[in-house]
Amino acid sequence: MKRNLTKKQADELRKKIGRKPSLVWDVMNKQETANAFKFAEKYKAFLDRAKTEREAASFISDAAVKKGFKNIEDRTRASKFYKICRGKSAALAVIGRKPVKSGIHIIGAHIDSPRLDFKQNPLYEETDLAFFKTHYYGGIRKHQWFARPLAIHGRVIKKNGEEMDFIIGESEGDPVLTIADLLPHLAGKAQENKRLSLAFEGEKLNMLAGSLPIGDEKVKERFKLNLLSHLYEIYGMTEEDFITAEIEAVPAGNARDIGLDRSMVGAYGQDDRICAFAAMEALFDLIKKPNVTALALFFDKEEIGSEGNTGAKSRFMEEVVSDLLAKTSSDTSERTLRKALMNSAAISADVTAALDPDFQEVHEKRNAARLGYGISITKFTGARGKSGANDANAEYLGRIRQIFNENKVVWQTGELGKVDQGGGGTIAKFLAAYDMEIVDCGPPILSMHSPLEISSKADLHMTFKGYRAFFSAK
Ligand code: MN
Ligand code: MN
Repeated sequence: MKRNLTKKQADELRKKIGRKPSLVWDVMNKQETANAFKFAEKYKAFLDRAKTEREAASFISDAAVKKGFKNIEDRTRASKFYKICRGKSAALAVIGRKPVKSGIHIIGAHIDSPRLDFKQNPLYEETDLAFFKTHYYGGIRKHQWFARPLAIHGRVIKKNGEEMDFIIGESEGDPVLTIADLLPHLAGKAQENKRLSLAFEGEKLNMLAGSLPIGDEKVKERFKLNLLSHLYEIYGMTEEDFITAEIEAVPAGNARDIGLDRSMVGAYGQDDRICAFAAMEALFDLIKKPNVTALALFFDKEEIGSEGNTGAKSRFMEEVVSDLLAKTSSDTSERTLRKALMNSAAISADVTAALDPDFQEVHEKRNAARLGYGISITKFTGARGKSGANDANAEYLGRIRQIFNENKVVWQTGELGKVDQGGGGTIAKFLAAYDMEIVDCGPPILSMHSPLEISSKADLHMTFKGYRAFFSAK
């Protein structure tokens, strides 16, 4: 039989049994809003200092040392530890009341971002100009990297083994490099009638580095030689040193507020340093000793599939948990380590795509995360039929939902685009391989993987709050 309801009754019923996502700005009071804006200032300062995985790892360990964390390799008794892996991935832990073998709370983020790496033989000259050849790292849309100021962040191992770091292009007054693009007048045949992926080729991502010659016309390759001589004078670098170097080109400049209302942050590398920062701050903010040991992991190499000895597929996490066992008990057997990992609960802290107002057609609106609606619980990533996804179970989603609700964390759910549209992956499935519970939770990002990614200060705040609630949970 059809039931009749007054509008008032219908509203009440909907309030009771329906779900309406909340806009964070509507939920926060004046004080919390002020806190969110203040937190974003700290976040921007982190982004400016941590533009590469190496810089992020050392920022995190420096901050931990200031907070009284001890190096887990040292023979000290402490309750807060840090561990660095090859200068590129990091871990922070706070020992809880329960034994480590009964399981820990893990938040895993990544600190690498898409960028342009120098090739090992980068320097050449062409038409009396000097260039560096690059090889892109991670998923970039190549056209976004042309005609913009680029900075370089490098680690060079010299012939004698000496390590040298340099940053060029970030300080006021520093020179920058750039990749020249065609003028519209001549782009017709070369670019405009081609598919975007073919119009901008990887081999054309060559960075303009100089135009001064050394010596007179009789000198061979004198533009290249001039640059080499410049690098030798300032850094003591030789051409062979490029081969034993990692030099990363990233968009130059600092993070900025976006919007006249300053409600958003625009910066390179927010995927996934927004989650890394929120996880780090959440751990630092644990006032009481947590019930369960809290571990924040900061991985490298996520953007190329979590490969390598600093990525989530390496055994770094096992090593850290094994160290935690050793610090807290005499039972450090392989079996106990396996149990500890199996009994653990984790958040794969990574960003998701925000509904793009101008390209809504790539999203399924009812299941897309939106800027300003809080931290997104992403049950699965993957492509098409959830291929390559972790796909968290309902029971665990229930646990996370309770933790967020009890702690007034504004959350939403998100799916990366329409079912058949494309997809992506995170570190979730690599941690899930240890049989632990894990789900993706992170803020939505507009213009993700671009040189100017956009986040909402409201979502950043809720991400921090959500991670803190997870670490504090029973
Ligand atoms: Mn990511
Ligand atoms: Mn990414």
